[in-house]
Amino acid sequence: MLHALLAEASVPFGPDEIKEVFQAIFRASLDLQERENRRALRVLQPGIVPPGGIDVGGVAIGNGAPVLFVGPCSVESAEQMETIAAFIARLPVAKILRAGAFKPRTNPYSFQGLREEGLRLLRDAGTRHGMPVVTEVLDTAGLDAVAASADMLQIGARNMYNTELLKAVGRLDKPVLLKRGFMATLDELLLAAEYIAAEGNTRIVLCERGIRTFETRTRNTLDIAAVPLLKLETALPVIVDLSHALGRRDVILPCARAALAAGADGLMIEAHPDPDRALSDGFQQVGLAELAALVAGLGWGEPRPEAILEPSEVNHE
Ligand code: PEP
Ligand code: MN
Repeated sequence: MLHALLAEASVPFGPDEIKEVFQAIFRASLDLQERENRRALRVLQPGIVPPGGIDVGGVAIGNGAPVLFVGPCSVESAEQMETIAAFIARLPVAKILRAGAFKPRTNPYSFQGLREEGLRLLRDAGTRHGMPVVTEVLDTAGLDAVAASADMLQIGARNMYNTELLKAVGRLDKPVLLKRGFMATLDELLLAAEYIAAEGNTRIVLCERGIRTFETRTRNTLDIAAVPLLKLETALPVIVDLSHALGRRDVILPCARAALAAGADGLMIEAHPDPDRALSDGFQQVGLAELAALVAGLGWGEPRPEAILEPSEVNHE
C-alpha cells in the first residue's frame, strides 16, 4: 500500500513525509481494530453470566454468596473420601467437593491418581453427601469419562494453554473451572476462557491459584489484584485457590479474608482427614479441625452436628 501510495500520490510532500503519515495512520487503525476485537470477546460481555450465577449441580457461583471448593488434593481411597465428604457436608457454607483422580504431577514417579476408580469414588462421595463434585480433566482422551461423572470440569494450571482441551470442553454442556497458568498474564487467562466460550460453553469460573515469582516463602505468589482486575473486565465468577497459591497452611485465613475482601466469588482449600499421610500435597492440606477453624474464622459458623442416620439409611456396602 505504501509503495502504491508513493507511486500515485501527487502531493506537495516528499516520500519520507508520505511514509511517516502513512505509518502513523496504519498504526492507529491497527490499535483501533485491536480494541474493537477485544470488545467483541465473549468473555467480556456483561450478560455472559445469568443473574443467579453459574449453576454447578445446584450450587450457584457468582450470585453474591461465596462458595467453598474443598476436598483432598487426590482421591486416595473410599475411606478417605467418606471421612472428608461427611465432614465437609456439615460445613455451613455452599460447597463443591473437589479431589483429583487424574493428577498432573511434576515427577513421573509421584502418585498419579486413582484415575477411573478415583472418578467413581469422588462421584459416590458427592452423591452420598449431597454435594456437587469438581475434578481435573488432563487431556481430550479422558474428557468423556470425567464429564460423565463430574458436575464441573477443572482445567489445571498446566493445561491453561492446551487449546485443544479448551475447545473440547467448550463443546460440552458442563461448567468449567479454569485455573490460571503459573506464568500466565490475566490477558492470557481471559483468552484461554475465550477459547472455551467461543465454542458455546460460557459456564466458566476463573481461578487465581498463584503465579511463579522469585519469592520462596510461598509455593507461588498469590496475585490478589487479579481478583478485582478480572472482575473489572469480565462478569465471569473468580475464585481463589489458597492451597496451591500458598503451599502452606499457616497463612490461609488472612489470605482467604483478603481474597473475599477483593471480591472473590469463592475459595479453594485442600483438606484431608490425615494430611501428614496424604499421597500428594500433604504439606499444604488442612485437617478437619483446621478446616472447621478456617470456616469459623471466615465468619461462616461452626460445622453442623453429625447427622444421626436411621439404621435403614446406613449404607453397609
Ligand atoms: C489441583 O487443584 O488439583 C491442581 C493440580 O492445581 P493447579 O492446576 O492449580 O496446580
Ligand atoms: Mn494439590
